[in-house]
Amino acid sequence: VLEIKDLYKGFGDLKVLNGFNLELYKGENLVMMGKSGSGKSVMIKCMVGLMQPDSGNIKILGKDISTLSHQEMDELRTEIGFLFQGSALYDSMTVRENLEFPLRRHTDKFDLKNTDELVMEALRNVGLEHTIDQMPEELSGGMQRRIAFARALILQPQIILYDEPTTGLDPITSKEIIELMQTIQDKYNTSSLIITHDVDCARVISNRMILLLDGINYVEGTFEELSNSKDPKIKAFFK
Ligand code: ATP
Ligand code: MG
Repeated sequence: VLEIKDLYKGFGDLKVLNGFNLELYKGENLVMMGKSGSGKSVMIKCMVGLMQPDSGNIKILGKDISTLSHQEMDELRTEIGFLFQGSALYDSMTVRENLEFPLRRHTDKFDLKNTDELVMEALRNVGLEHTIDQMPEELSGGMQRRIAFARALILQPQIILYDEPTTGLDPITSKEIIELMQTIQDKYNTSSLIITHDVDCARVISNRMILLLDGINYVEGTFEELSNSKDPKIKAFFK
């Protein structure tokens, strides 16, 4: 569903991505790890058209994104859900309004008559129907994360990108979020790219892993394979 080939991106003298490759297959959970500053967020920004790569090729659901018009790219974005580090909810909007927001931007894909139903279904998925008329500040960090999750799902995307979904949460809440990721995955057969530093999250959720080092995909394999590697550079990720 997603293919990145030979991606290069730098900022002046700083080379961030140096020929990065990645393939995400239908229905899988691909976990990506990489040091802070190694270019994970830059890669995601290139992927959704917020940043222009210097060279290389990105295909999403079979479409080469460099050939798409603004409008076509906007349509394609409805197939991609994001869960960014922190929850990034709109503080001045209720939970309902937060969830309605993406629907209102994409009235071509969704009939506004059904928003109530879609909002309720999204909230049911994360077990927080009762918060619908609350403000984000009235919710705990873990609940906010789940609302952000519901918002990422509301456009019924085929691909979900997670940028550190469990950072800043206590171990129990982390575990709940990971279980929720798995439930959603099973229910909708979505394909997920999960960026994380959390070894437990990687162990539980990954079907496959990829390690980013020096701007390239240094190694790929299952959690078992990589966590048992003798290579000191790989071992460092699992400390
Ligand atoms: P973290 O794990 O901390 O989120 P990351 O792997 O996501 O790190 P990026 O945000 O992708 O790291 O940044 C990679 C490098 O690119 C950093 O050195 C950063 O300073 C640089 N960088 C990112 N965006 C820009 C920009 N718009 N202009 C200049 N440099 C940038
Ligand atoms: Mg980042």
